[in-house]
Amino acid sequence: MNGRKLYLALPVIILAALLAFAHRGRFFPPREAERTLFAMDTVISITAYGADDAVLDECAAALSRLENDLSVTKESGTIARLNRDKQAELTPDAELLLKEAISVSKMTGGAFDISVRPLVKAWGFTSDERRIPPDAEIERLLKLVDYRKISLENGRAKLGAGMEADLGGIAKGYAGDVLSAILRSAGVSAAVVNLGGNVSCVGAKPDGKSWRIAVKNPAGDGIACILEKGEGHVITSGAYERFFTGEDGKIYGHIIDPGTGRPAGSGLLSVTVAGKNGAMCDALSTAFFVMGAGAAADFWREHGGFELVIITKDRKIFATPGIFPHVVPAGDFASVKVSEIPR
Ligand code: FAD
Ligand code: MG
Repeated sequence: MNGRKLYLALPVIILAALLAFAHRGRFFPPREAERTLFAMDTVISITAYGADDAVLDECAAALSRLENDLSVTKESGTIARLNRDKQAELTPDAELLLKEAISVSKMTGGAFDISVRPLVKAWGFTSDERRIPPDAEIERLLKLVDYRKISLENGRAKLGAGMEADLGGIAKGYAGDVLSAILRSAGVSAAVVNLGGNVSCVGAKPDGKSWRIAVKNPAGDGIACILEKGEGHVITSGAYERFFTGEDGKIYGHIIDPGTGRPAGSGLLSVTVAGKNGAMCDALSTAFFVMGAGAAADFWREHGGFELVIITKDRKIFATPGIFPHVVPAGDFASVKVSEIPR
């Protein structure tokens, strides 16, 4: 190209470079669409870059489909029918989720068990009447809790007499999977979905930096730490939102140890699981809250495929090596030194 031709082509080259830059979202940030909804008893917010309202409508419709199908309180939904009739034909969502739930139950030796609902009810966590059930009642209800008595065959599920299922410990994580898939297939460049503290990130942030996800302070106000990470789900379980204080001054939380029939007391304030499969992260965070720090770390060593951030009752923070350098303590925990969980 001679000098004159280059001179003429220069504006075109500069324009093409600007457009390429803008396309990557680094020059003009992509259009940001936001929606806040209430579903599954929690506030849900979706922020998507490079999306239009139709994608958010699709997300809202999916959430309402999942809630109607999977909630224990939606009479015509699969789980409510299963609990009432002790058998039900399964929708694809319910079948996938029941399979996933049972698989996590097997892997965690029953620390995660969706048949724990009779006990969740007895402790009053499904109503406003929290109570400490008498020992005899707990012993009687424990006989109804056993994921091995849930049968799944030819698209139908069956429960044993008196049993009840509750997907509260896994379904919000699955909703994160479903919404992430919708956003991805609509071609959004980046999105973040917050399902009441369960966070799902899609793509890379428009400014090219890591997503920054806050983990709530499980022992007070504000946050305990910030996690800087890429695409995927960050899901936390704890006893700091649904709990009551007994007359004995003890805190009783909504996560029940299926071994004892009592609120989990494994010495943890919260467990955060980060990974690619939202349903699995959700179920594991609930299971680890029951199992405690040592057993959760052993599970991670054996199975891997996810990262862990554990906050213990003695206010220590532990993290697996993959996320350890990206955990920034904050608020009341700002002076806490994070410990790395050895491989
Ligand atoms: P997680 O740790 O993920 O789960 C804890 C929940 O799982 C407990 O609340 C209990 O339900 C169950 N659980 C307890 N112990 C175990 C265990 N060992 N293994 C497996 N599961 C266990 N709440 C309302 O108050 N009203 C509603 O109408 C309502 N509708 C919902 C509909 C859907 C589809 C979903 C997914 C949730 C809904 N919820 C509702 C909230 C639900 O009842 C749970 O309280 C909530 O899902 C807890 O989630 P989490 O992330 O805080 O805790
Ligand atoms: Mg969970």
